Amino acid sequence: MQKSIIVIHYGEIALKGKNRLLFEKQLHRNIHEALRDIGYSKDVQRVNGRFILSLGDDEIGDSSHEIILQRLREIPGITYFGVGFEVGRNIEEIVDGVITLSKDLPSGSFKVDTRRSDKGFPLSSPEVNRLVGQAIVDRFNLPVNLNNPVSVVRIEIAFSGVYIFCARYQGIGGLPVGASGKVVSLISAGFDSPVASYLIMKRGARVYFAHFHSSPYVSRNSIDQVHSLIGRLSDFQHESICYMVPIAEIQKKIIAAAPPQYRVLLYRRVMVRLAERIAARHKCEALVTGESLGQVASQTLRNMRVVDESASMPVLRPLIGMDKEEIISLARTIGTETISAEPYDDCCSFLMPRQVETWGSVRQVHEIESKIDYTEEYEQALHNAEIVVVANRYAKEVTNDFT
Ligand code: ATP
Ligand code: MG
Repeated sequence: MQKSIIVIHYGEIALKGKNRLLFEKQLHRNIHEALRDIGYSKDVQRVNGRFILSLGDDEIGDSSHEIILQRLREIPGITYFGVGFEVGRNIEEIVDGVITLSKDLPSGSFKVDTRRSDKGFPLSSPEVNRLVGQAIVDRFNLPVNLNNPVSVVRIEIAFSGVYIFCARYQGIGGLPVGASGKVVSLISAGFDSPVASYLIMKRGARVYFAHFHSSPYVSRNSIDQVHSLIGRLSDFQHESICYMVPIAEIQKKIIAAAPPQYRVLLYRRVMVRLAERIAARHKCEALVTGESLGQVASQTLRNMRVVDESASMPVLRPLIGMDKEEIISLARTIGTETISAEPYDDCCSFLMPRQVETWGSVRQVHEIESKIDYTEEYEQALHNAEIVVVANRYAKEVTNDFT
């Protein structure tokens, strides 16, 4: 028996004690959904701390598998996976399977790495290594190198089956989306907030998005750009919902009542309050922003305090300790950098003052806000928000019921 399979490993989940089952189920569901989206409907088996995805009778390396590998590389919670065979539980079939797989080994040294979690298997791991290694040497005349081999032939002898593979692919790690609850991410078309959204997704939170814009007073290009960014980010969580919220009417009221240097702080407090309404609707636990300490004049500790004072839920800032270069490098890795690099009209630059308050005062903000009645505009902004669903073909329809 030589069945083409992918063995999927998830590191951190295994450490979660009694929550482990919950995490495994979430990852199982996420893998299943991501693959169903590309038309793969075979069962993904959950066995002994790993998942086994059966590729059926197709040849390993079939081009249709490339898309499966690509998907698996982007599912949070997967640490690595190997493409190979499931073989019968005896040394003869293990050797046969390894010989078939080793046809594609690059020239150069190799080693065999056996993990035997089923101690009932009659040979020890070193014995399997020796026998299989010798068979490869006899057949392909490749040199063994235990310390720094070009290729590693991996054999896993588990209770559920015996799995062998050579090609091992790195996943992105983290936790499966949905396992840590839900958040609303305040997303702009810039570099930072998409990266912040990714990092929080990778820690298992499902991310809803809120984008605030000043259309029709400026162009809609920030909306289009955010739409593209979310398209990319949805590869990591499969389905995303974004509220495109028009706030120009609120901004006009702020401009009329506030000293110019306070505008941006007041806009941020408005964003936070509106985002909380969206969060309540989707039962989210926290907000997320792409701020990093001291990156720009508005992102000082004091200003963050002034913004957070308007929030009733935690405001998470996953990029707080990162440099701009580190953020952009991560944006490049996850594929949002080129989209964010396009120019766009930002709502905060709409009637932007020349100078920005770097050390705001809560008392002063309260004083200004006491003179503005936003109630009507808040409801209008939510009511007029466009909802964009970026997802696969199984997406559900979502409607705006802030009426
Ligand atoms: P980014 O690259 O994410 O735009 P930035 O360095 O340009 O960040 P700011 O423009 O000061 O920083 O924004 C700080 C954070 O406020 C952003 O990371 C984002 O979370 C939120 N934010 C800013 N503008 C908007 C917007 N128009 N809609 C939603 N959130 C926004
Ligand atoms: Mg910005």
